Amino acid sequence: MPAKGVLVAVTADVVIAGGGVIGTAIAWRAAAAGLDVVLADPAYGDAASLVAAGMLAPVSEALFGEGALLRVNLLALARFPSFAAELEQVTGHRVGLRREGTLAVAFDAGDYAALTRLTAFRRSAGLEAEELDSRACRKLESFLTPDVHGGVLFPGDWSVDNRRYAAALREAAAAAGVRVVRDRVTEVLTADGADDANARVRGVALAESGEIGSDRVVVAAGSWSGAVHGLPAGLRSAVRPVKGQLLRLRHPDGMPPVLTHTIRATVRGADVYLVPRADGEVIVGATQEERGPDLTVTAGAVHDLLHDAMSVLPVTSELILAETCAGLRPGTPDNGPIVGDAGPGGLLLATGHYRNGILMSAATADAAVACLTGRAPAPEWEPFGPGRFLTRQGER
Ligand SMILES: Cc1cc2nc3c(=O)[nH]c(=O)nc-3n(C[C@H](O)[C@H](O)[C@H](O)COP(=O)(O)OP(=O)(O)OC[C@H]3O[C@@H](n4cnc5c(N)ncnc54)[C@H](O)[C@@H]3O)c2cc1C
Repeated sequence: MPAKGVLVAVTADVVIAGGGVIGTAIAWRAAAAGLDVVLADPAYGDAASLVAAGMLAPVSEALFGEGALLRVNLLALARFPSFAAELEQVTGHRVGLRREGTLAVAFDAGDYAALTRLTAFRRSAGLEAEELDSRACRKLESFLTPDVHGGVLFPGDWSVDNRRYAAALREAAAAAGVRVVRDRVTEVLTADGADDANARVRGVALAESGEIGSDRVVVAAGSWSGAVHGLPAGLRSAVRPVKGQLLRLRHPDGMPPVLTHTIRATVRGADVYLVPRADGEVIVGATQEERGPDLTVTAGAVHDLLHDAMSVLPVTSELILAETCAGLRPGTPDNGPIVGDAGPGGLLLATGHYRNGILMSAATADAAVACLTGRAPAPEWEPFGPGRFLTRQGER
């Protein structure tokens, strides 16, 4: 890996800007498809991919009016197991895929009414859901408070240990020959000038290490994607950071696991989730805040998350508060990802995965590699091309 400040005089078949799960998954699969790949990322540590809870939750994320997003999330879920299995086989590391499902619980009657409406909608979309009274909820998860009003089991949701998964992706990418440059992509360079409708990319400029020559560039820089110069203007403003604060708890030594399923609870209108890991970690999340690129952790968020978690699972108070963290989801105006060829020719976007980037990573890699190798992505991606944010003819 070249040190910062050293001129990188390299060329590649593909340059990828961003080494979160999206960029790294694409890098691995593109290299596995025979392409020579360079991945540029200055500071992997800030990636949302390392903060996320790791839910693979198309069902409990399914909301009114987001049918196309549901279809791409279901495609992503179906792809995940074989992708993860290959990753585990290549690296020899387990990524912690769990398939117990999500138990959504409602704290009071008002919360239950809202859950019932969502459940009816999810059933109408063909998703599996099993309504449970309070007693049945506690039969599945014995540490839930008896005060829980009722719940719904969504067996179609899974989870993965996103940190293990991200580390395995990096290892697999390296093993497949992906070269990593620790620097920031400042600009996508075009051969014929950015205003020329026939412009094609010729590489990228880096903040500190010169340029990388390539006629294919993938911008996968998560919530920072809009800061890359050379993108069409409509796309630069389409991705915004949506802050999420989240806690990582750990069982004290010798304490048996307090959870099996992912719990998504609504506590007097406030949403909280608890995601168990095989190694005893429990993730509690998450806030959703429009605060720009702010990564601070606030006392109020920690308080609220713990309060709501303890309201439904009182034993949470006995777990160790191991880590508090904040990350930036790459949000878009319609909550959908932006995946596909963008123009100038050779530019591909893979960003805007918002709340479901871990879930969508494997399917996004398939779609991106299809574009890079001249094939059409799966039809589920059709509504999520960059073109929907280019509202005016020729806008850049
Ligand atoms: C609190 C929270 C909980 C979440 N929970 C879930 C969940 O349960 N399930 C789920 O599926 N998703 C979840 N998400 C969403 C998920 O984390 C994101 O959608 C996903 O991580 C986006 O991946 P990414 O690779 O696009 O971006 P990131 O992981 O943010 O990675 C972007 C990378 O690009 C790099 N970069 C930035 N600018 C440049 C540049 N100019 N040049 C080169 N590199 C650059 C950064 O250093 C970073 O490493 C959650 C997110 C948050 C914040």
